[in-house]
Amino acid sequence: MCNEPNYIDRAPSPSRLMRGRVAVCLCPGQDKCGLCASACGFGAIAKRGRVPEVAHDECIACGACVRACPFGNMRLIDFTKAEDTAELTLKIPKKLVQNGLSALADGDMISLFAVGEGQSPDSEVLQAHYLDGGELSLRVRTAKGNAFAPFKC
Ligand code: SF4
Ligand code: SF4
Repeated sequence: MCNEPNYIDRAPSPSRLMRGRVAVCLCPGQDKCGLCASACGFGAIAKRGRVPEVAHDECIACGACVRACPFGNMRLIDFTKAEDTAELTLKIPKKLVQNGLSALADGDMISLFAVGEGQSPDSEVLQAHYLDGGELSLRVRTAKGNAFAPFKC
């Protein structure tokens, strides 16, 4: 399991979560990268220090930041679909695809997050699309507790 910081303090407000899909950032900090902020056409991401800050109330969940991040550090989360589960839109880095996330099909159950490692698969694939660069664009249904969990690595 990766030793990652706790990202829950970057969560959108409960009222924003109730309004539907929103971008969240799990970037551990990249000095020379601001691709997510550059990709956002709505001014919803500011990169003042090492870690981007998402203004969740400005986010319209277009997904451009998710597509732009080469490390899979941005994701869209939707807490409005069900009481206990969330839908997440993710870009999985090529390295993790090579580590066993190839040839996924809709409906597959996979083990994607660090929490629950060694236990049952934690996510249902709703949509999987392999990108030209070898990454995986993925939409999954999972426990809300996984919304801020880093990927298994
Ligand atoms: S999902 Fe779109 S609007 Fe929201 S932060 Fe990302 S790029 Fe900006
Ligand atoms: S594009 Fe990804 S790695 Fe770069 S600053 Fe944004 S979240 Fe961090």
